[in-house]
Amino acid sequence: MQQLSHYIDGEYIDGTSGRFADVFNPATGELQLKVQLATRDEVDEAVARAAEAQKAWAKVNPQRRARVFMKFGQLINDNMDRLAESISREHGKTLPDARGDIQRGLEVVEVCMGAPSLLKGEYTDNAGPDIDIYAMRQPLGVVAGITPFNFPAMIPLWKMAPAIVAGNAMVLKPSERTPTCAFLLAELLYEAGLPKGVLQVINGDKDAVDALLDNNTIQAVGFVGSTPIAQYIYGRAATNGKRAQCFGGAKNHMVIMPDADLDKAADALVGSSFGAAGERCMAISVAVPVGQETADRLVEKLTPKIEALKVGPYTAGDDVDYGPVITAAAKDRIEGLINSGVEQGATLVTDGRGLNLQGYEDGFYVGPTLFDNVTPDMDIYQQEIFGPVLSQVRTDTYEDALNLVMENDYGNGTAIFTADGDTARDYASRVNVGMVGVNFPIPVPLSYYSFGGWKKSAFGDLNQYGPDAFKFYTKTKTVTSRWFSGIKDGHELNFKAMD
Ligand code: NAD
Repeated sequence: MQQLSHYIDGEYIDGTSGRFADVFNPATGELQLKVQLATRDEVDEAVARAAEAQKAWAKVNPQRRARVFMKFGQLINDNMDRLAESISREHGKTLPDARGDIQRGLEVVEVCMGAPSLLKGEYTDNAGPDIDIYAMRQPLGVVAGITPFNFPAMIPLWKMAPAIVAGNAMVLKPSERTPTCAFLLAELLYEAGLPKGVLQVINGDKDAVDALLDNNTIQAVGFVGSTPIAQYIYGRAATNGKRAQCFGGAKNHMVIMPDADLDKAADALVGSSFGAAGERCMAISVAVPVGQETADRLVEKLTPKIEALKVGPYTAGDDVDYGPVITAAAKDRIEGLINSGVEQGATLVTDGRGLNLQGYEDGFYVGPTLFDNVTPDMDIYQQEIFGPVLSQVRTDTYEDALNLVMENDYGNGTAIFTADGDTARDYASRVNVGMVGVNFPIPVPLSYYSFGGWKKSAFGDLNQYGPDAFKFYTKTKTVTSRWFSGIKDGHELNFKAMD
């Protein structure tokens, strides 16, 4: 059985814990890799080495640091297929979707190529009599990145690129369920010229995370994952005096107004609810049509599209719309939630339970599932299912739909489909959700904006990537400076008449 431990100072090393996590190929159900989970001592050692390396890295001028990321971007492009395969093999998403995962991370690397501009300070000449004030942005030191299973390239890149180009060193702990891509990316970053020790990648579970949270050298923690863990990490990091930004789970609603183009809305729903088997934090999992007629027509349009979806292994190529879910436990949990929806009275329109693919009987597949007449008290509404399940909640008016979204605990993304600019504008202005799409289902902001939810979808006050990331990964130092008249008074250099 293949094993993967840690990547320290640009080299693979063997772990010592003797504790392992299993990495499956979700398409076949086969165990394909064992990752060794780091001990507290191993984490502390990785951090100490990173701290040593960071001192010199912080002194490298920003333009030279950015050049490493220019080369890194080129290497990611050159290795796109190899990286995508590593993602699909461990996550199960289709190869085009895996390339999208890399692409959306690469775009953040591209922004980091312009880091010198983003790291510039501020200067006020003559802020007082002979007084100047300037503010500079300095790196924090060693920071930690802790990432989830569902975007094995994108989210590690969202963490490592801004942190490192800003002059920090990073200890990255990728998901123990989809770790390989982060290690391949680290190899490429070293190939691009990163000095030894500036990025360390460790495998681990709660023990390793707690070691990072308790390590006094770690200055900041960037986390992405589920809400309970995000909240836990935010609390423990803050108690230990660290900066933290912790992005959590989601329950994203799409409001469909009676005047919306329902064909386009239905296509958008199918893509955003079932793509990547629904394992996206920006997946739409709740459709909220306004008016009974809109709801009836929407179900009519959705049903044949959903029934036509092809579920299968990534190796089947373009024939497959989405792949398996991440583990057998995830499949059981999702099917359990579908059972609860039926028991609690929702109308099961398409049933994804018990999907058995010939030749892939041990894979973790769940068919596309559509529920109608879902109500907010049901478990399928209250919980983040993180699977290929779309729930339709009917509402009578626009205000009812807006209130439903506002009252939900999560606030990551939302969308409205309508032909009316005034309604769209009102929705975007009033809704208490961090990222809003207007006739656009997955409004993940481009890399020169910033990504972040509201409510229980994010803990901390700055978003990830874009301008916010440069604020998060640097601290401001402000200097007030006065120079007394001195040496220049002792000399007369003016050209004067001789008399
Ligand atoms: P998860 O919370 O189980 O794990 C995330 C990370 O935390 C992993 O590295 C894991 O090893 C670590 N971890 C797990 N349990 C821990 C514990 N008890 N103590 C300390 N660390 C622990 O999340 P996941 O299942 O890998 O990812 C799916 C979740 O991530 C979903 O809820 C999804 O919505 C969310 N997500 C959010 C965003 C966002 O930007 N808001 C993006 C992607 C995914």
